[in-house]
Amino acid sequence: KDGTTRGGVAVLGLGRFGSALALELVEEGEEVLAADLNPRTVQEHAGLLTHVVEADTTSEDAMRGLGIGEFGTVVVAIGTDIEASILTASVAVHLGVRNVWAKAISEPHARILAQIGVDNVVRPEHDMGQRVAHLVRGRMLDYIEFDDGYVFVKTRPPALLHNRSLTGVGVRQTYGVTVVGVKPAGGTFTYTTADTVIRPDDHIVVSGPQHKVEAFARL
Ligand code: ADP
Repeated sequence: KDGTTRGGVAVLGLGRFGSALALELVEEGEEVLAADLNPRTVQEHAGLLTHVVEADTTSEDAMRGLGIGEFGTVVVAIGTDIEASILTASVAVHLGVRNVWAKAISEPHARILAQIGVDNVVRPEHDMGQRVAHLVRGRMLDYIEFDDGYVFVKTRPPALLHNRSLTGVGVRQTYGVTVVGVKPAGGTFTYTTADTVIRPDDHIVVSGPQHKVEAFARL
């Protein structure tokens, strides 16, 4: 480690995942250096990201040349080619990057990445599959689960809430969940208060323990 860390994020691999991630980072005002082996992919992203280069990210020399070791955050966004993913992640860790993120396409892949020192491993297909399982079952429009079984969902209000205030129904006492926000049809989300009245075509954001929120959303 030479001790100098710059801002910005290096995204290695510009497949569907890496591309969406890099473009979103730029949208959020972040500087993004992206690298991909495929010249066509590089060309498609030219001008959309801060820097886009054609490089083999499994090559330590190439990564040194790009100054990857000085990035505070590096995302290994190669999935399908597990060997390239592991070699790339290993180079990033070896170059002393503090914050390495990598996408894994399977449980063993995720385990190997963790073993070589990648602290943040994500499994987009796996996690999205689990998330969609909650959405296909009913009324929920969006579903986010935190590690500890605590969830946030966007849902249509159950009938018992229609045209009633949150305290009138006693949502928290009776169901153990909190209605945090409400969005009228065509309007924007606002925080709820005790006297917020929920209309049938509103969308609401509910938080609480997973099983309680799911039971509430199915009422
Ligand atoms: P997704 O499922 O998100 O589309 P892929 O794993 O299919 O992800 O895509 C990975 C991307 O990484 C592709 O654009 C591919 O060209 C690139 N890639 C694969 N191996 C290397 C490598 N050794 N160096 C640089 N880029 C690579």
